[in-house]
Amino acid sequence: MKTLDSIAEVRRALAQPRRAGRRIGLVPTMGAFHAGHLSLMRRAREECDVVVVSLFVNPTQFNDPADLTAYPRDPDRDAALAADIGVDYLFAPPADEVYPSGFATTVSVGGVTEPLEGAHRGRGHFDGVSTVVAKLFNIVAPDVAYFGQKDAQQALVIRRLVRDLDMPVSIEICPTVREPDGLALSSRNAHLSATDRSRAAALHRALDAIQAAVSSGERDPVTARARAMTELEAAQIEPDYLELVSAETLAPVGTIDGNVLAVLAARVGGTRLIDNELIRANHTGNGRP
Ligand code: AMP
Repeated sequence: MKTLDSIAEVRRALAQPRRAGRRIGLVPTMGAFHAGHLSLMRRAREECDVVVVSLFVNPTQFNDPADLTAYPRDPDRDAALAADIGVDYLFAPPADEVYPSGFATTVSVGGVTEPLEGAHRGRGHFDGVSTVVAKLFNIVAPDVAYFGQKDAQQALVIRRLVRDLDMPVSIEICPTVREPDGLALSSRNAHLSATDRSRAAALHRALDAIQAAVSSGERDPVTARARAMTELEAAQIEPDYLELVSAETLAPVGTIDGNVLAVLAARVGGTRLIDNELIRANHTGNGRP
């Protein structure tokens, strides 16, 4: 694996494989790799001829400067893990390579950016995400890019971005990788104290409680949500939001049918965590479809 830190080097490295018609896959990340990141890289390795992983802690998507400063970083370990999987190129640019002086453009997606994370973290968060992802797509020009379902709203934003701006890249969304107790892997889990780490498992229990309610026939989102709140309250967790929304538009649903996403964000100790689960309304739990 080669580590590259300039845009020019990336373009040079990919020119020949691109001319030869090789399939180029990109996995955008902010580093501090865990099994979630590695699952995206493995999938890219299986499906592509050339795998590029970007590692860039994008300052413009952090609404909280303290979160940016505290964001876990371990570039040497990250490089070793990516090399192990067989990644070809790790693109790890410094901030001024991505945002040189005079940088003045923002790519801003409407609609799906507005609720949930957009409402809680502010407009700037998804503007930062869409701008850096648009740049990465222009730098790498991948045939396919891999993202995680863990960040469900981000995945919808990227799909919208690519459709609206006619970007010639396919977007693959990979399943959320979890700890044995259900906690979704996240670089921020490293900040949890031992007590908060065990409390944090309540997030997934809450989402599971919604699925359990729906599987036993519940179709009212208010009642299903109340089941999840019981799990959170038992762990003394007050959510930023806990909602049942359309998996396509993120609009709140009045009744549970079709593709419904249960979405949740909460601070556990000082650490803000997010999770989500696609709720299946056709599983009745009594064996009937
Ligand atoms: P990040 O480094 O947190 O920006 O994440 C980089 C990519 O990994 C994003 O597409 C995330 O959605 C994805 N990702 C993060 N956590 C997980 C997880 N637990 N399972 C699967 N994908 C994940």
